[in-house]
Amino acid sequence: MKKIVEYINTAKQESDKPFCAFLYDMEHLCTHVQARVQSMPANTRYFYAIKANSELPILAALAPIVDGFEVASIGEVRKVRSVSPDIPIIFGGPGKSDEELIGALEHHVSLIHVESLHELRRLNELCGKRNTVMPILLRVNLRGPLPTATLAMGGRPTQFGIDEGQIAEAIQLAKTLPHVKLEGFHLHSLSNNLHAAEHVKLVQYYIQLIKGWAAEFELTLSTLNAGGGIGVNYADLNDQFDWELFVSELGPMLEAELPEGLTVLFECGRYNTASCGYYAVEVLDIKENHGKTYAIVRGGTQHFRLPVSWQHSHPFVVLPSERWDYAFERKEVNNIPLTVVGQLCTPKDVLASDITVPHLRIGDVILFLYAGAYGWSISHHDFLSHPHPDHLYLE
Ligand SMILES: *Cc1c(COP(=O)(O)O)cnc(C)c1O
Repeated sequence: MKKIVEYINTAKQESDKPFCAFLYDMEHLCTHVQARVQSMPANTRYFYAIKANSELPILAALAPIVDGFEVASIGEVRKVRSVSPDIPIIFGGPGKSDEELIGALEHHVSLIHVESLHELRRLNELCGKRNTVMPILLRVNLRGPLPTATLAMGGRPTQFGIDEGQIAEAIQLAKTLPHVKLEGFHLHSLSNNLHAAEHVKLVQYYIQLIKGWAAEFELTLSTLNAGGGIGVNYADLNDQFDWELFVSELGPMLEAELPEGLTVLFECGRYNTASCGYYAVEVLDIKENHGKTYAIVRGGTQHFRLPVSWQHSHPFVVLPSERWDYAFERKEVNNIPLTVVGQLCTPKDVLASDITVPHLRIGDVILFLYAGAYGWSISHHDFLSHPHPDHLYLE
């Protein structure tokens, strides 16, 4: 964080424009992800799900480190191919068009995660016309019960995957289609799981399920995709997912349970890029309104929608700035609950609510932490046509 703060301090001295930027600590990104990849047990592969943050410098930095990228559109396929001609790509997501499936074949995607029977038939037909056979995983929406997490993609009705109740039909269909090869199953079922031991149990549960299907339908499987969903604790940054515990329990569990010849893929998004990213915004105004104090910043949820979409106060620190260009007195507040809002004309443009800080002045910079995943990438950048933030990738 030191170099991020130094950068902002220098920029504040050099420019009188209100500061607003996403800043990335690239060294932290690479060290963090590399440590994860290196500590994974045998017979696993570690992919990055790029929808968490698909900025090209992030992809270029991670390409030499991870085993591949998980994508969910042809646009994401192209982004990956623009940084690497040959890194493995696995392609999922509901509602893939023919154009996307053909594009995936042309860009040498390694695996397609098929999400419905209709998609299975279409992919077979498209591959038939090209005289090729595509390796696939069937994405299944499990019945559960699953360990708790913030967002569940499975174990309840969603648009994702094939209902576990239709799995026999899907497998039987896949077996009859000559241009797809069923390599295994994709069981990504939850998001933001903070419990390492439960995550191991989840993978164990997946293995038991697919062993059952392999036996029942006489399948030779090579791949189980256990999805992403390793979480970030935004409420307490000092109490994060216990990675050491995770890999120390995962290794022996796989040794005991994993059938010969099977590889387990992980495709984490949030966990890889959240901690390397910062969203820094300058305080433009401070005012009291009907008994509440608001800090209005240069920027807002059109850049950083994560706190609204999760309905949480995003963690931040205040960076004091001594610069003050006006002849009149500088407004400040001390030790009172503050609500931090952006420049949009909607009361929903809230980044943090009722947070008490010791000291804040107009012109100080608020630095949101853990902003590197599902921040810029999920936001509606042009609502109200304010300028975009800078994107700074600090080495
Ligand atoms: C979003 C997504 C991921 C990544 O999820 P995280 O919670 O960011 O780890 C992985 N797989 C699929 C299919 C996804 O849709």
